[in-house]
Amino acid sequence: MIRRHKGDFTWTDVPILPYKEDGTLFKDITRQTLFEGSEQFGLELRYFEIGPGGHSTLEQHDHEHVVMIIRGTGRVLVGDTVSEIGTNDIVHVPTQTWHQFRATDDSPLGFLCVVKTDRDRPRRPGPEDLADLNTIPVASEFIRF
Ligand code: MN
Repeated sequence: MIRRHKGDFTWTDVPILPYKEDGTLFKDITRQTLFEGSEQFGLELRYFEIGPGGHSTLEQHDHEHVVMIIRGTGRVLVGDTVSEIGTNDIVHVPTQTWHQFRATDDSPLGFLCVVKTDRDRPRRPGPEDLADLNTIPVASEFIRF
């Protein structure tokens, strides 16, 4: 199977979908499932693109992500660290670790993301989680809802 790149970070036979069904707690993101592995293969490859100034949901979960930035620049919170990210950088999000991606104000942020097919649902922060995150100045400044 080959899905050809059509240009501009779109691929043949891959629909451009909303990031999440529920349209809150994130800003300006599209999702494309580039490869849905068999049950035996057990992995999916997705492409997400965050528009300039947009952000993903602040969340954590049991499953892990490995991400490769392939377009633009931004920043990412992973745990208690906020890092600048750009094309060809790799980001690992470990299990049960708060994470949120943000695009730079004048650039989109597009990235490949590998996940297990069989995975738990993301959890959003509650008041206690936010109180903990707010004790970390870089996280407190960074997070968006
Ligand atoms: Mn996640």
